[in-house]
Amino acid sequence: MNREETQALIENVMDTLSDENGFLGLRTEEERREVCGSAKEILKTTDKVIKSYIRVSRENNGISRIPAYRVQHNNISGFYKGGIRFNEYVTESEVENLAILMTIKNALHKLPFGGAKGGVHVNPKEFTDRELNLIAKKYVQVFKPDIGPNHDIPAPDLGTNERIIDWMVGEYKTIHPGESYLGSFTGKSVENGGAKGRRESTGIGTYLSYQWMINDWFTDIAEQDEVERTGQWETLEALHDKHRENGYLEVAVQGFGNVGSVAAKEAFQDKKLKQRVVAVSDREVTLYNSDGLAVESLDAFGFTHQRLPNTEKELDELDVKAEILDAGDVLTVESDVLILAAVEDQIHRDNMKDVPAKVFVEGANAPISQEADQYLEETGKIVIPDILVNAGGVIVSYLEWKQSRITEEYSEDEIIDEMAAQMTKTFKRVYDTYFYSTEQSMRYGCFYLALERLTSLLYKHGKLF
Ligand code: NAD
Repeated sequence: MNREETQALIENVMDTLSDENGFLGLRTEEERREVCGSAKEILKTTDKVIKSYIRVSRENNGISRIPAYRVQHNNISGFYKGGIRFNEYVTESEVENLAILMTIKNALHKLPFGGAKGGVHVNPKEFTDRELNLIAKKYVQVFKPDIGPNHDIPAPDLGTNERIIDWMVGEYKTIHPGESYLGSFTGKSVENGGAKGRRESTGIGTYLSYQWMINDWFTDIAEQDEVERTGQWETLEALHDKHRENGYLEVAVQGFGNVGSVAAKEAFQDKKLKQRVVAVSDREVTLYNSDGLAVESLDAFGFTHQRLPNTEKELDELDVKAEILDAGDVLTVESDVLILAAVEDQIHRDNMKDVPAKVFVEGANAPISQEADQYLEETGKIVIPDILVNAGGVIVSYLEWKQSRITEEYSEDEIIDEMAAQMTKTFKRVYDTYFYSTEQSMRYGCFYLALERLTSLLYKHGKLF
């Protein structure tokens, strides 16, 4: 979903809310239309877009000027919060879209944060460590009036990690001597005040979104009564039966970084739901084996090399049996569940009919276009949307930020258990609504719950006159 599609969905949901009798205790249709119209205006647009050019002195090649962004969408539910990505495809409208999605995601999961996002237009692989360190520090210098523990709290995202965040915290501390600094960023290393399990949290939450649906939620609901969304229900029933009757669910994972590799490992190790990870990919290659891949060996390789093995020789050395296919083939190999954990806009009008998976899990932000989402919905497939799926990271970020305030440390088990409990609560609210109506997509249902909350906060804060 691009920015325009996100804005159109906000508009659409706000129109539905304004038609709802009794919404916000407003009696007349006219009052509701006025209030919802104001909320629509506020939530479709961003509070602040800041663009700057970071100047980096290259080790061998003069000076580069690199576009960098921080977008603050809305803070009605708490301080602005959102990652910073280092990626060569970063654009202003992409960062704006991701900032809007952060506000919606935090509201959906009832976190006390608003939404923001940052981006730097670089391919980190083309820069030395020293240059990346300079870019990270300059980012903090350039955006210093706009970030801080009580205002806007960045975190890692695509192409950034705890090392880069530690550098940023170091710079923040230098710029603001004597001030508290640990809450200024989340996703720090554990030694530097980070939460244990932060790196794994998004991948674990992503995995839980479908595992919990097919296993726990389905089992609970199947004993109760008929749901209304019959196409998706049949899909779920078939997957549940496949696993119960000693078959294996086939899982394909696009992207093998922080999110994808952890989700793949969770699927590989799970004892509750029988699965085989048949395909994994990164930006270079897809590895495929219909009998299942040795995910732990691939993960160990990925940890050292920051990529998947991509030659027969590397696979032999690892003792991993796999066919080497093109990067894009991960989308079209036979699978039951496709976890999208790479970048935006992967399934769209041109390929939506060629993807055989039955459940689509958006670990990445915005990997499925609005048109493809609608098509998949109409064909009985289940699309679990990004704002529901990939919130594990921001939930743990919240715990990390809280940790910095109470100056106490949570154990890894406490953090992962808390994250899983919070996500499961939201899954239940969304799945219960989605399967018992036939009206709209699951993404629409998530937007509905989030926008209902945001509008209510805006109204109570007196912002909608
Ligand atoms: P990462 O940089 O660790 O890994 C990204 C993976 O995707 C790598 O394997 C890379 O090779 C692959 N990739 C990159 N471009 C690709 C392309 N064009 N085609 C196929 N594969 C490609 O990033 P990450 O932290 O795992 O994040 C992945 C996605 O999840 C992003 O969309 C990010 O915004 C989203 N996300 C991440 C977090 C988090 O906590 N890390 C939280 C929420 C959302």
